Amino acid sequence: MSTPVPGEARGTTAGGEAAARAVALVKTYGTGEAQVVALDGVDVAIGRGRFTAVMGPSGSGKSTLMHCLAGLDTVSAGRVWLGDREITGLDDRQLTRLRRDHVGFVFQSCNLLPTLTAEENITLPLDIAGRVPDREWLHEVIGTLRLGDRLRHRPSQLSGGQQQRVACARALAARPALIFADEPTGNLDSRSGLEVLRFLRAAVDDLGQTVVMVTHDPNAAAHADLALYLADGRIVDEMTRPTAESVLRRMQVFAAGPRPAPTAPTGPAPDRPPGPAPRHHRNG
Ligand code: ADP
Ligand code: MG
Repeated sequence: MSTPVPGEARGTTAGGEAAARAVALVKTYGTGEAQVVALDGVDVAIGRGRFTAVMGPSGSGKSTLMHCLAGLDTVSAGRVWLGDREITGLDDRQLTRLRRDHVGFVFQSCNLLPTLTAEENITLPLDIAGRVPDREWLHEVIGTLRLGDRLRHRPSQLSGGQQQRVACARALAARPALIFADEPTGNLDSRSGLEVLRFLRAAVDDLGQTVVMVTHDPNAAAHADLALYLADGRIVDEMTRPTAESVLRRMQVFAAGPRPAPTAPTGPAPDRPPGPAPRHHRNG
């Protein structure tokens, strides 16, 4: 039998396989008074072949969730799977190998090596791992990223958007099952950001990849199939087929708090009868 799928997991697609999932995931930093609960019991399943955006205010746990799902960080409690493989309990060596073969990362800053060409940067992780690049796959990735005429350039000769596309190609070079991108457009102007977002979309639609992107930008989230909302270390909502407008509206609701503010003043009872506030009369 396959491992049980959590009934309450967010992000699941009906009948869809999970590329990664977590059950009752807790992550705390520090101890005692200084303890921070970064993730507070997260159940989530990342649908394979989908583009998932993880949204939420600064400090809500987005990066921590990504790090725990990707095996970049240990968890305090709960369980995490990458594909069918449970990663909680693996040692560092096993984790490193699993990540290298199955996960690609794109971060806010591209971290390209300045002395290497774009192509050398793209294949560097494979070279380090002693793996022979799949030329056909690389060709497809480079074509999708429209980097064919930039391969001999060094990072300083590329625009910010092109550099981030090289970082995307590097993340995809080993053909990982899952790509994690943490605010990949955070350092880019809107046009370069759009290039990267279109690519992540194409990676899902044309190359069959699974992408998880952390963002707080409604315009970026609109490229995803599903937006998950984190607040205070919990997944509090999700939205399929998000648009920039619907995401923005949802963010405004959350910013206002989980419940509407009470209309009656608190404190000592006012000496007026309870009931609705007087309304304005309609014209006419
Ligand atoms: P986000 O990516 O949504 O901005 P993070 O996942 O980075 O949020 O952080 C969630 C919470 O955990 C925050 O309160 C943050 O200060 C805390 N945190 C994150 N990383 C660490 C760390 N290495 N040590 C201590 N606290 C951390
Ligand atoms: Mg973050």
